[in-house]
Amino acid sequence: MILVMNSKASQKELDYVIAKVTERGLRAHVSEGKECTIVGLIGEKDIIAEFNGEALPGVEKALAVTESYKLASRKFKEADTVVNVGGVFVGGNNIAVMAGPCAVESREQLLESAWAVKSGGAQFLRGGAFKPRTSPYAFQGLEEVGLRMLAEVGKITGLKIVTEVVDVGSLPVVCEYADMLQVGARNMQNFQLLKAIGKLGKPVLLKRGLSATLDEWLNAAEYILNEGNCNVIMCERGIRTFENYTRNTLDLSAVAALKLLTHLPVVVDPSHGTGRWKLVAPMARAAVAAGADGLMIEVHPCPANALSDGPQSLTPDNFTSLMLEVAAVAGAIGRKLQ
Ligand code: PEP
Ligand code: MN
Repeated sequence: MILVMNSKASQKELDYVIAKVTERGLRAHVSEGKECTIVGLIGEKDIIAEFNGEALPGVEKALAVTESYKLASRKFKEADTVVNVGGVFVGGNNIAVMAGPCAVESREQLLESAWAVKSGGAQFLRGGAFKPRTSPYAFQGLEEVGLRMLAEVGKITGLKIVTEVVDVGSLPVVCEYADMLQVGARNMQNFQLLKAIGKLGKPVLLKRGLSATLDEWLNAAEYILNEGNCNVIMCERGIRTFENYTRNTLDLSAVAALKLLTHLPVVVDPSHGTGRWKLVAPMARAAVAAGADGLMIEVHPCPANALSDGPQSLTPDNFTSLMLEVAAVAGAIGRKLQ
């Protein structure tokens, strides 16, 4: 339930409403909008259903929120959330770009990738140090050694670091080196991990699960928000369908749908979304046209030698062309790259 306060409601009335909500064992989430203030009620469903909010002074109306996620809902917070990642903003008018190799393989590979994506115009360097691979025989990542390389290369180039955290155990070490945590598709419903991340202030890029509905994905975000971490960015990376020409089916309708359903920024990863490098630029352009707030692109100095995801990785030259094309699309819809 959300309580919409009267535009003339006083602070005293708002405080009274919050006190009444708290008295019933519920939590009040206050959001001050341009037009009015709304109070979101969080807690036991039955208690919320019985709560007579409209009877309270200063309350204009009470609206039922039927979705199981609340804090992530656009109904709770009308204004777009802008996530500040160490001075780089994701959300708002500018489009953020995160790029780099699938996995950190060596210092040289990482540094070369970093300079390439930086000169192309990216603000973030991506790269996995802990790799959740389908096969246990595939390259599993350099772990802490890789994290240290990411942090060092981030310092040298000025790029922000986004890297995946795969479990609660490695969360502290990943936090030490990363500017933003990535929760991968395979961990979207690792609720213990989501809760642990929620207790931190670190920004988090929450990838859509392999077969997750929008509702399941938004509830995963809700787990993080509910613990007090509001710095959540949604990342569409394709879902599993019957189509097997592409690695996944990139669901660009999810971008437009999320813009209606949530205030959280939305990033698109056309690399994992398609699995084919030739499809990455067209889908990146389409993602921006659809309203994405950012892109995540895999770039490798030599994709043919990549230890993971070479077939979907762009060369530095192809990344530079993609950025020029994306800038043109952004301009056409009144936005720009950062
Ligand atoms: C990745 O970004 O390298 C990755 C493993 O992505 P996803 O979790 O979307 O498969
Ligand atoms: Mn990858």
